[in-house]
Amino acid sequence: MRRLATFLALSLASALAAAEYTGPIFDAHLHYNEEAWNGREGPHPPADVLARMQRNGVRAIIANSRPNDGSKLLAQIPQTRQAGVTVVPFVRLYRNRADYSNWFRDESIHEMVQAELARGTAAGPFRGIGEFHLYESGNANGPVARKLMVLAEEKQLAVLAHVDDAAVDLLMAHTPTKGAKLRLIWAHTGIGGTPVARVDQMMARYPLLMGELSYRPGLTCEGGRLCPEWRQLFLKYPDRFLLGSDTWVNQRWQSYDDTMKGYRAWLADLPADVARRIAWDNGANLFGLKAPAP
Ligand SMILES: [Zn+2]
Repeated sequence: MRRLATFLALSLASALAAAEYTGPIFDAHLHYNEEAWNGREGPHPPADVLARMQRNGVRAIIANSRPNDGSKLLAQIPQTRQAGVTVVPFVRLYRNRADYSNWFRDESIHEMVQAELARGTAAGPFRGIGEFHLYESGNANGPVARKLMVLAEEKQLAVLAHVDDAAVDLLMAHTPTKGAKLRLIWAHTGIGGTPVARVDQMMARYPLLMGELSYRPGLTCEGGRLCPEWRQLFLKYPDRFLLGSDTWVNQRWQSYDDTMKGYRAWLADLPADVARRIAWDNGANLFGLKAPAP
């Protein structure tokens, strides 16, 4: 009888554990753009965004912002540490909206990146470059895009790239190792819906390619559950995927809770160790972060 009770208790515990991912989250695609805070006031001042991270168990973020002041502020203020959030700062390539469609050929962006890297942040050196966009794959061949990929590989900086699969190939080709040592985080893992078979092929080809999953079409099916072909891909490459909020407009801050709840819901469709890797370990391992205190 006692043995049966123990068995039932253990079964119940494992059923509950499978019901929800409750561990820490590494938000690998976060923007703190100027319209969010407008020099501290704004609709989403630091206290607001940090509260959103804290109540969702987000314990580390890749912070990048247009301009870079937003990331630097989060890296600097003591409230960030008090909220239990570690900032991994990236240099954004955009000073303003016009830079979105010109950065890959604008030498002044290359200079800005080098100046920012030399300066660093209060939370330590910049650890990556991006997010940047390429709306036409061929622009990955622009002179500044080429130079920045070489710089990233040589300095072991991660790259957060919102591009299509053809542009990933081009960016990888520009590095000295042809991408073997480039830590490229593929924002949205193909926002245009790159077929899963093609994503699989790219994961096999580039050992350090990571897929960030915000806005990824076809990821979730009926009721917000994980679609079967994605579940299979995560089981095949459990160390290669990351979660992100992509707070590119203020509306994404307003729905930050829902974004994170959505992730926690489908993470429950994976074995607990795989869920934990996608939610936290993969990001933490990329940048050598320790497990957060509970
Ligand atoms: Zn973004």
